[in-house]
Amino acid sequence: MNKITSTSPTDDPEKVYPRVPGIDYKYFKLSPEGVPEAWRKIALQQLHEYELAQKQHFLGYQTNQKLNFDEELHQYLNYHLNNVGDPFQSGNLTLNSKFIERAVLDYFASLWNAQWPHNNNKNTPYEERKDSYWGYVLTMGASEGNVYALWNARDYLSGKFLMTDAEVEHKAKEASKCGRKVSIEPRTMYYQAIAPECNPNKYTPVAFYSQDTHYSIIKFMRVLNIQTFYEIAVNNKLKCPLEKDDYPDDFSNEYIDEISGWPLEVPSDKDGNIHIPALVKLVDFFAEKGYPPLISFNYGTTFKGAYDRVKDAVEKLVPVFKNRNLYERKVHYDPNDKSKFDVRNGFWIHVDGALGAGYMPFIEMAIKQNKIKLPDGYTFPEFDFRIKELHSLVFSGHKWLGAPWPTGIFMSKVKYQLQPPDDPQYIGSPDTTFAGSRNGFSPIILWNSLSKNSYDSLIEMAVNMEGLAEYAFQEFKKLEQKLGIDLWVERSPLSLTIRFKKPDDHIVFKYSLSEEELYVDGKRRKYCHMYIMGHVTEKLIDEFILELSKPYVIPDQEEQVEQVVKCDIKPNATKLLHVPYIGRGFK
Ligand SMILES: *Cc1c(COP(=O)(O)O)cnc(C)c1O
Repeated sequence: MNKITSTSPTDDPEKVYPRVPGIDYKYFKLSPEGVPEAWRKIALQQLHEYELAQKQHFLGYQTNQKLNFDEELHQYLNYHLNNVGDPFQSGNLTLNSKFIERAVLDYFASLWNAQWPHNNNKNTPYEERKDSYWGYVLTMGASEGNVYALWNARDYLSGKFLMTDAEVEHKAKEASKCGRKVSIEPRTMYYQAIAPECNPNKYTPVAFYSQDTHYSIIKFMRVLNIQTFYEIAVNNKLKCPLEKDDYPDDFSNEYIDEISGWPLEVPSDKDGNIHIPALVKLVDFFAEKGYPPLISFNYGTTFKGAYDRVKDAVEKLVPVFKNRNLYERKVHYDPNDKSKFDVRNGFWIHVDGALGAGYMPFIEMAIKQNKIKLPDGYTFPEFDFRIKELHSLVFSGHKWLGAPWPTGIFMSKVKYQLQPPDDPQYIGSPDTTFAGSRNGFSPIILWNSLSKNSYDSLIEMAVNMEGLAEYAFQEFKKLEQKLGIDLWVERSPLSLTIRFKKPDDHIVFKYSLSEEELYVDGKRRKYCHMYIMGHVTEKLIDEFILELSKPYVIPDQEEQVEQVVKCDIKPNATKLLHVPYIGRGFK
């Protein structure tokens, strides 16, 4: 034993960790000697068999398993490609793929109707470049894009700015008075504007997002200390302006805090879409009090796959912003010098398009070419940079398009980066992205897929998947008839997911089904959903439905009685945001 310094275990890890079918942990356990070669071979074999089996039945999450990258790209496993820093600046870490990253970003900018190429060249007049896009390829998935967007939104709305420290100049002048010239390096400072007394909430962003929002948004609200409307309302004992009519039909009261009367998040309808009348009323209520609203929409919700009608909502919100003097407002750098200010929007519109931003543009094209029929009464929900009030958009690359690891895209506009107009005093952030090191392999993966497909082939792919989702839905309906039981089967319009009553655990494992609890008509129900992604075939759907048709595979659910929560401690502390345990798809 080469043991120099290392701890011994307090228990056998095999006993304390979850068991995984087909995996003998002893072959994987790492020791100071590594793993004996014969065991390593067994371990790799078990790994392969396990992942292959799970991949073959994969139905429960929105990640495409139809991947074919090894042939052309396998050699890059032996390169460390790092796109650290801004994608539009070369940087010194030259072993990167930023030139491909820029091609991928341009592609999506064009697809999402943004102004491209990115241009923040100081030789171009600001007016011409301010609307050009800025973005980058994410190392995490859309979660990273969400935190980055919310961070930008918070700084933008809360009146933060970056400037050269004016005291440095003063110091240099003072020092120079002694007769010798002193040069002092400029220093970038992060500043916070001061709210005027007449409008104390001017720099306090208030967040609005629906009850179908992905948990990453909620997590980052906490990371960034952004307050939600609920939080501000209960702590200031405000009275909720929503009346019964402002809630969607079929709304379950469990989503309301019965003590304060406020909904915990913005209500959504049973399909999972944010309820626009409630949103508009809530936003107006806070806008009237001077708070700048930060609104996060979903385009493809995690569990129900619903597309918020972003354009319709923004059309209703713009008059509210204008009426409350938030459409454009001055952010003063110095309360005593009214001549120095930046003009900013007093609101931020973010779209979490983790899933939908990838294929819905092709569905829109398919509609225009009469290649797809919309559900009765349904019109295409626009979400992209054609909405001129849109501030940021994110997308996960590994979901619809497919990648071996999480990746994605963040996109915004030059004018929303913290770098005010043509004044040499103002400078942008020297480090524009979220992380330090950035994955340089991911842009190659995205480029590989996009370079092999035309819009026509992507339209065909998107239309086929909609067709398969409808097929699966109809097969479920037939199954319901055959079994004579209500399986709670539902599919939101154009969504790639079908939700249904939770089957037995062995099915949940075999098909990697995501499970979720939802309140329906005041009752708590356990659901699962399946997602149609590129690898899913009619054959896999048929096999799945056949398994569900066997006796006892979909057990009855006892009516779940709400547990009585015993709460001995009542903190004498400020109540912050609601952290949901159900409805968000993180299981
Ligand atoms: C999956 C998902 C995310 C998070 O994306 P990751 O790529 O897993 O980080 C965010 N929002 C929605 C709506 C999602 O479905």
